[in-house]
Amino acid sequence: MLMEKERNLIVEYGKKLITENLTSGTGGNISIYDPEQGLFAISPSGIDYFETRPEDVVVMNLDGEIVDGDRKPSSEKDLHIEMYKIKPEIRSVVHTHSMYCTVLSCINMPIKSVHYVLADAATDVVPVAPYVTYGTKDLALAAADTIGDAKACLLANHGMLAVGKDVGDAFGVARECEWVSEIQWRTMAVGTPNILTREQMEVVMEKFKTHGQVKEKK
Ligand code: 13P
Ligand code: ZN
Repeated sequence: MLMEKERNLIVEYGKKLITENLTSGTGGNISIYDPEQGLFAISPSGIDYFETRPEDVVVMNLDGEIVDGDRKPSSEKDLHIEMYKIKPEIRSVVHTHSMYCTVLSCINMPIKSVHYVLADAATDVVPVAPYVTYGTKDLALAAADTIGDAKACLLANHGMLAVGKDVGDAFGVARECEWVSEIQWRTMAVGTPNILTREQMEVVMEKFKTHGQVKEKK
């Protein structure tokens, strides 16, 4: 089976979208790109994440042609393809309908730096792409036009999109965006959130490079 490892990861992370409350029903989709083969594996359209098997995952090229798999690929394949085209360094795209990101997207409000962990998205503001019908090339182009250097953007009246150096990274960005969106929503409900400055966020972005068990450069 082509891209077996990636197909297994898509099944595993699809279930995590549900267990970690990052989407509902069959909303959202995940892909992983292998630049050496010029192929990506993407979740099938509209199949329950707990019923998706590795062979249901579809392998495609960046021209949108199916290379392996019998299922219909995610309706958002163009969204994933555009991200791989404009950000050649990324290896995974995660799209979700997580609750608080979607709430902000429905009032056209970007995610702001109400908490420093937003630095995970490599930005101090996660912008909102204008509303376009789901599953269209125009939505893909709107997101590509909006995301800039950030690792995430919101999709108006729809959800969010995250990219990363691997699926764990893209999934982590999606999770942090959701968490910060909830903080933003909650703080706005009781007062006026204090927004960290670009400079404060840049300090955190730098610090994140060596956070955790990453060896610091001597
Ligand atoms: P798919 O099941 O086709 O991936 O669609 C889900 C979705 O989120 C559409 O925007
Ligand atoms: Zn969607």
